[in-house]
Amino acid sequence: MAAVSHTTSFYAASALDKTQRPQLTQDISCDICIIGAGFTGLSSAIHLAEKGFKVVILEGSRIGFGASGRNGGQIVHSYSRDMDFIEKHFGKQTGDGMGAMAFEGAKVLRRFVSDYNIDCDLKPGGIFAACTTKQLDEMASKKALWESYGHTELELFSESEIKQHIGSERYVGGLFDKSGGHFHPLNLALGEAAAFESLGGQIFEDSKVEKVIEGAKPKLITANGSVTCDYTIVAGNAYLGDLIPKLEAKAIPCGTQIVTTAPLSKAQQKDLLPTDHCVEDCNYLLDYFRLSGDGRLIYGGGVTYGAREPSKIESMITPNMLKTFPQLKGVQIDHAWTGNFLLTLMRLPQFGRIGSNIYYMQGYSGHGVTSSHLAGKLVSEIITGQAERFDVMASLPQYPFPGGKLLRVPYTAMGAWFYNVRDKLGL
Ligand SMILES: Cc1cc2nc3c(=O)[nH]c(=O)nc-3n(C[C@H](O)[C@H](O)[C@H](O)COP(=O)(O)OP(=O)(O)OC[C@H]3O[C@@H](n4cnc5c(N)ncnc54)[C@H](O)[C@@H]3O)c2cc1C
Repeated sequence: MAAVSHTTSFYAASALDKTQRPQLTQDISCDICIIGAGFTGLSSAIHLAEKGFKVVILEGSRIGFGASGRNGGQIVHSYSRDMDFIEKHFGKQTGDGMGAMAFEGAKVLRRFVSDYNIDCDLKPGGIFAACTTKQLDEMASKKALWESYGHTELELFSESEIKQHIGSERYVGGLFDKSGGHFHPLNLALGEAAAFESLGGQIFEDSKVEKVIEGAKPKLITANGSVTCDYTIVAGNAYLGDLIPKLEAKAIPCGTQIVTTAPLSKAQQKDLLPTDHCVEDCNYLLDYFRLSGDGRLIYGGGVTYGAREPSKIESMITPNMLKTFPQLKGVQIDHAWTGNFLLTLMRLPQFGRIGSNIYYMQGYSGHGVTSSHLAGKLVSEIITGQAERFDVMASLPQYPFPGGKLLRVPYTAMGAWFYNVRDKLGL
């Protein structure tokens, strides 16, 4: 039996595949060895196995143990910072290169679901809900920006229109993205794992990589075995710890928390989210919510810097849930959990190479469902000789956080506090 198990999430409780994969207990070799079975690792694995490579994934805990199996399950396009920011700071060529890929991750995800028949309650439609008129103006700009990159499935909602989709008085309007959507993230990860295995790939669980020996053929050491390979892909994101010190210095793991209610009646579901789309608000420290396949409200929010495990998740998140939906007063909370995403200083992903044969992709800064799926496609391209698109990502600067190891977490929390106050004041 596993020495490690999933967190206390609704997703773990409703996972469709509880199969425990074996632990690595031998010295083996393969073409490509991937560290981590989250969406980054799984997307890389599927793309490379589809191209005929012998691929092995080493997962320290369980498939989808990290953010990929715990998240809000919302398909959000583009990056945590949009193309206007990228173009302004890094030039038109980088902005255009990033813009050309900004809507591709969701297509990768949907292709996996359809090609491999993955059962993960996938539903269409996502709403960015504006709490202030300033945020609504920003949504109008986002619509124009995304449309300039060819993404056309967008509609601005007025205050009265958004009420037809969200049974809350909190919002003054929003942006509806018809090609957004939501799904059961752990079941997607498990379905992707099964897809990868159907292509001949191997996954070892409870097989934490303790050391990476660089060289012409990198060697990855676990407690009871090792893998020697031609290429290594580091996909440990916020759960990587200090395995690769160069990567640890570049980003901060942050926690965000989710609660899930008991199943709601059909009438309650219709009252809260009549069109069954997912929602995230436009605040810096944002709330995000949606209905599960079995009619629960899944409500997330809050951020803890430095990946602390907060002790009272329910009392952190429920007040916000009741502010949005006071009609849920007294509702039973069945599950509460926290998960870590990886924040970078620029809030942009970090892709790169260590030596010539170790690739890494990390730091999606909260919006990683689509970027992690895209990352897997791009690393498969570079390994097969097409470096161009991976290199656009890798060209973004990867600054360390100010404050060093000791002060970077408090400094970042202070910065977030400032933005949070600004949102609360509607500035
Ligand atoms: C609570 C929460 C809600 C979120 N909601 C959304 C959302 O709705 N939409 C969205 O776009 N994004 C969301 N995100 C972000 C998104 O989930 C992540 O960006 C994305 O899943 C990252 O995928 P990943 O594969 O890179 O990392 P992870 O899913 O964290 O996977 C990393 C894996 O690597 C393994 N690992 C680490 N170190 C080692 C090692 N040494 N050896 C072996 N294995 C190792 C870990 O055990 C883990 O399984 C959310 C994140 C959280 C935490």
